[in-house]
Formats: sequence, structure tokens, C-alpha cells
Amino acid sequence: MKCVRGGSFSKGELQRFGNIELNPSAGVLNYGQGLFEGLKAYRKVDGNILLFRPEENALRMKIGAERMCMPSPTVEQFVEAVKATVLANKRWVPPPGKGSLYIRPLLMGTGTVLGVAPAPEYTLLIYVSPVGNYFKEGVAAINLVVEHELHRATPGGTGGVKTIGNYAAVLKAQSIAKAKGYSDVLYLDCVHKKYLEEVSSCNIFVVKDNVISTPSIKGTILPGITRKSIIDVARSQGFQVEERLVAVDELFDADEVFCTGTAVVVSPVGSITYKGKRVSYGEGGFGAVSQQLYTVLTRLQMGLIEDKMNWTVELK
Ligand code: PMP
Repeated sequence: MKCVRGGSFSKGELQRFGNIELNPSAGVLNYGQGLFEGLKAYRKVDGNILLFRPEENALRMKIGAERMCMPSPTVEQFVEAVKATVLANKRWVPPPGKGSLYIRPLLMGTGTVLGVAPAPEYTLLIYVSPVGNYFKEGVAAINLVVEHELHRATPGGTGGVKTIGNYAAVLKAQSIAKAKGYSDVLYLDCVHKKYLEEVSSCNIFVVKDNVISTPSIKGTILPGITRKSIIDVARSQGFQVEERLVAVDELFDADEVFCTGTAVVVSPVGSITYKGKRVSYGEGGFGAVSQQLYTVLTRLQMGLIEDKMNWTVELK
């Protein structure tokens, strides 16, 4: 799909996966005008395919595009383009329980600019790939390290939208953490350096005495669609959920910690290390709360229980 700045997006076409051509002075290459989404398609036992809340991704892209000075497709255009791409790649949606099809819509400034300015032209492309578990641990617990020097987002910055630069900002801390054997990094706020923000590609939840807490959305963490869904699922299961500032010290007193995201779904956290001090949770797998939430969410996503929330979109 293409759009000239100030115009609207035109209907796109399906192409074989391959390299794309970009002018060296394209806005995305020089000034970071790139914004992406991530969502999944699941195969049901009857063979049909379910998308999970695609209109939420469309809305998040709209908000992000506004922040990045980019035009965005309408919610309908976005969802229709996702559906058409998945239908054309139906055979790549794994059988039930064997993974999912990850869908990556990417909006970028493809028009040329030399001085710092928004690009005059934009392209939305969508590619897909079958995926299994995100972390090499599978659904076993992951080990996080809290980063207190390198930050992924600043107040007033772009941390709250899914722009490509946010991911460049995490690569160094993540590489150091992985080289030391950690699964990923948990970031702190950059003002007080004591409140939890999120992990490189997922949101964080802390459980204490059956109360579930997660950092509130304040412009420096991504408003995860899985986060939002898990909050609703947890409340519907009778849990108290608080969206608030969560201090790093609370990790040392928590009963359970878990992460949420499209790629990671719900991942239990087995240990967290902060300034050399390590705290462990559970016995290497899900805790009781994350297990319950994971089970409900994944059954919903795979069409194994009734979708009372109307979150899934069935493709035929
Ligand atoms: N935070 C970051 C930085 C992410 O990249 C993601 C993955 N999109 C998330 C949180 C989780 O968001 P979602 O549940 O919408 O995938």
C-alpha cells in the first residue's frame, strides 16, 4: 500500500517475498521514519484461521504514525490488508498447537529527503513467517537482568509507540545481557531509575498475594495488546489488577513475575538480577497465576473456548 504525504493509502498488491528497492535518501533509512506492528494468526482445529484483535494493531499504528509525522492507513485498510496477506499464505499457518503465523506490518517513509523532514511518500508492507516460541527456553521460565544505566525510552520521546528506533536503543543492553546468559533485559524509568518499565519486546507483570500489578502506560512503555488483554482476562477471572508505578524493590518481595507480548504470549520469569542481587520465582515454569492466564488466553486465541470478548476474527 502506498501513500503520498497528505493523501490516502491506495490498495496494495501481493508480491513474492524478496528484497525491496529503496532510494538511499529514503526517510526511513535516514531519519528513522519506520513503524511496525506484530500480530498472529492461529489455526483452529476445524482448519480455519483466527486473527487476534487486528483492529487494535491498526489503532496503535495510527497513534504511532501521528507521533512519527507519518500518514497511516485506515483501520479497515489495515485489517483488510492483513487478512489478504494471511489468506494468501494460508499454508504457512502451522497446525493447532504447533505454533502460529507471525504477521509483521511495516510502515515506512520511502520518499526521499535530504534535510531533516518527514518523507513525502510512504509504504505499508506486510510480511509473514511461521513461528514457534520466542525465547529459547520455550514456555519454561526466563531469566531477566535489570538494566539501570542504558534506557530504551525517555519521557516525551517515542518509547510509547512501536517505532524502529526504540529497538535500536535496546540492542546494546540486550546483547550484553545475552552474552552473560540472561534471556533479556528489564528496563527502568530514566528519571527516578527505580520504576519498572518493560522488557525489550514484552510488558511485565508482578504478582503479590494474588494481586497483579503492571507498570502504568505513561508514554515510555509500549501499550501492549497482550498486556491489555491479560488485564481483562485476569479481571474476568476475579483477580485484582493494578496499573501503577511498580518499584524495582517490589521484585524482591513478589510471588510471581511474568511477561506478555504477541511473540512471547505469556512467559513466566524464573529469576531477575538487579545490581548483582538475584531473586528467583517458582520452580522453572509457570506460577499458578500466569499458568491460569496463559491457559485462558491461548485457548481463546486458538478458538478452543467461546470468545465472549469478541477478540478473534475468523478467516475462511
Ligand atoms: N513492549 C515492547 C517494547 C514490544 O516490542 C512489545 C511487542 N509488540 C510489547 C511490549 C508487547 O506488545 P504486544 O502485546 O502488543 O505484542
